[in-house]
Amino acid sequence: MRIILASISAALLSAALCAPAAAQGQPPFATTKVAGTDNVYIFRNGGAQSMFIVTKDGVIATDPIGYGKPTGGQTYLDEIKKVTDKPVKYVIYSHHHFDHIAGGKAFKDAGAKFIAQKNAKDHLVQLQDPNTVIPDETFGDKKVIKLGGTTLELLYLGANHSNSNIVMRLPKEKIIFLVDTIPAGQVPGRGMIDYFPLEAEAFIKKVIAMDWDRMITGHPGVEGRLGTHEDAKNILAMMQDASAEMKALGQAGKCWDAAEKEFKMAKYASWPGYENGLPFIARRFCMLWGRGT
Ligand SMILES: [Zn+2]
Repeated sequence: MRIILASISAALLSAALCAPAAAQGQPPFATTKVAGTDNVYIFRNGGAQSMFIVTKDGVIATDPIGYGKPTGGQTYLDEIKKVTDKPVKYVIYSHHHFDHIAGGKAFKDAGAKFIAQKNAKDHLVQLQDPNTVIPDETFGDKKVIKLGGTTLELLYLGANHSNSNIVMRLPKEKIIFLVDTIPAGQVPGRGMIDYFPLEAEAFIKKVIAMDWDRMITGHPGVEGRLGTHEDAKNILAMMQDASAEMKALGQAGKCWDAAEKEFKMAKYASWPGYENGLPFIARRFCMLWGRGT
């Protein structure tokens, strides 16, 4: 059993790295109800996943996963239709990265309203990706959606994994959906590319202080589990340690090559995703401490 779980964890590493590959031995996509809830679901396609909530007045969907999967959006919609005959009223983007949202056309054609943080729309308008629907509506710091007895808060708490990531919180269910910033038990990798190191530290502290019990992540956690406050505290500590280690190297004038070779984060060597994630974390903090950006 231990060996099987280890191999599943290894396969799920692609998820931690923001890669769309499906975990080995898993069906390409799956829909699961979140235990202990009446109406909260996770739709996974490949290595990415999103949350949707079914109410008596319609469905609130998030992230139409479709990057590199031309039928991904339709698959997601078809999965929702297996659960309910109610229409999808809203599609909410977690942030602007295409690996999570490039698949909205089927939802748009079905009449859903697309909502995102305003920075997400700014990026998408500039880029005009042919597969990604431009949001119909944006918000700055907060928007509350109420539908069929469900309340969903959309909260922008500052830049973090990108400058458009929001926290979606279901206050009654005490569940949050947060994509890419706080993995459940893994070292983040490619997700560091447009990471805001200083702002993210403040952001993670805010998330830790919020009232929630379980976190749905944008990529499945280790062994498919949901995230916890402990995961958030661990990532905060990891990023603080990484920053301190690279600060010494960067300020000694060693960025890029020498610093990136010496940077080890040894304390985290046993974490899933360590080998793959290390160079991305090193590069991002070399940018900060070796270049000032
Ligand atoms: Zn992302």
